Amino acid sequence: MAIKQTAISYYGMNYVEHAECDFKEMIEHGCTTVILAVTEFDFNFWRPNIPKIVDTAHKLGLRVLLDPWGIGKYFGGEQVSLFLQNNTENRQVSAMTGEKLLGACFNTPAFRDYFENFCLTLARETDADGFFWDEPHYALPKSYASITGGAGEDWACRCPICMRRFQDYYGYEMPRLMTDDVKQFRWREAMVILEETSRKIKEIKPKMEITCCVHATLNTYYVCEHRGYDNWDMVAACPYFDVFSTTIISWELPQAFFENITRRTVEVAKKHGKLSERWLMGYYKQPTDFAMIDRVVDLYDAAGVDRLGTWTYRGGYGTVLAAPDALKLWDRIGENYKRVLKK
Ligand SMILES: [Zn+2]
Repeated sequence: MAIKQTAISYYGMNYVEHAECDFKEMIEHGCTTVILAVTEFDFNFWRPNIPKIVDTAHKLGLRVLLDPWGIGKYFGGEQVSLFLQNNTENRQVSAMTGEKLLGACFNTPAFRDYFENFCLTLARETDADGFFWDEPHYALPKSYASITGGAGEDWACRCPICMRRFQDYYGYEMPRLMTDDVKQFRWREAMVILEETSRKIKEIKPKMEITCCVHATLNTYYVCEHRGYDNWDMVAACPYFDVFSTTIISWELPQAFFENITRRTVEVAKKHGKLSERWLMGYYKQPTDFAMIDRVVDLYDAAGVDRLGTWTYRGGYGTVLAAPDALKLWDRIGENYKRVLKK
């Protein structure tokens, strides 16, 4: 099965004519799709231009997916959150210390309403091709023997609303230890906000496509990061998701890790009748030998991945997360995009 979509993420929903220049550069780099990282500030401040930017991308021949980037610090991303600025409650709470954490609790009606309004407004006001759910997660994302560091026994969320809902369902107080009931509860509740919002988006625009991109973790017997979306079968089974995607992994990880994540991503996607997507790290770090990019793209292609994504436009050039040779990295990814689309 050949790769049909090559996406690049893009920040800065500001001026339409500037976006147009950047979109042309994306097309020259073999991108078929732009993932617009829409921040809470963009939504509140630049909203009149967002539909125009979507239309401009379409006019040039790019597909457009909307990513509510870093929203409430519930999705991945460096952006700041207006929800957290404007609300003192509805935050996730540490199970071990009871402290409020730096992320919105997506099981609260307040954040669910906020997220839904953000997405449904964009669904109504733009002609985007779909939405991209970008690394949704509970705070304190890494737990136990995480290979990416940050081991610990704490977890979230044990806020009053999560605790009440747990008590109502199981008939006893939510434990401080992550028992099997807690794990099941966290998985089930984590799906509600995305399922409900995806369903409502499709009620407004049935052709809008939903990609759910979860952390690319091993989640084996020994290693589980407990971010809430680590039960891939449960995520991919959601009837409103069209594409099952797993995130970027560091170039420094061994090839066996790339193979394992990719094989499992494709397997889970196929099992549930979804398209599969894998990512390339196009910011912050780069491989010591750029030929590794070619090899990883070939690995993805050979494994039957349907779609590729790269974070981000121009290798993050000009940001604190720029790759050392950001523009060269962007060029090499572009060469690979063009190569793989011709296969
Ligand atoms: Zn909570």
